[in-house]
Amino acid sequence: MNEEYQKCKKYEREIPQYLNGTLSQDDTLDLIEHVRSCANCKEELTVQHMVAVGLNDLDQIISLNVDDELEAEKKRIMALRRKQDRAERVFLGFLFFNASAFFAALMMLIL
Ligand SMILES: [Zn+2]
Repeated sequence: MNEEYQKCKKYEREIPQYLNGTLSQDDTLDLIEHVRSCANCKEELTVQHMVAVGLNDLDQIISLNVDDELEAEKKRIMALRRKQDRAERVFLGFLFFNASAFFAALMMLIL
């Protein structure tokens, strides 16, 4: 119980960072996962989001669906990650190709 509470405190501190876009990708994914299963933090996020959006825009608040927003954010990060993974694989493939070429040249010198 106390451990849960400490966790929530940590996530609550991250919410403002999430809302102003300064939270890291890893922490954002963590936060999204937590908020989905924690009613308290979800409420906190909803309230802070409303404040950030501006309470004068009532239509926007009524139509605000935090679940959809979190899901969209998660998908965006996952898509970014996939792109990074692909770039890394291309880079590793390139390294491997160079290493193979180097060893082939070395073998030719030796033999
Ligand atoms: Zn929580």
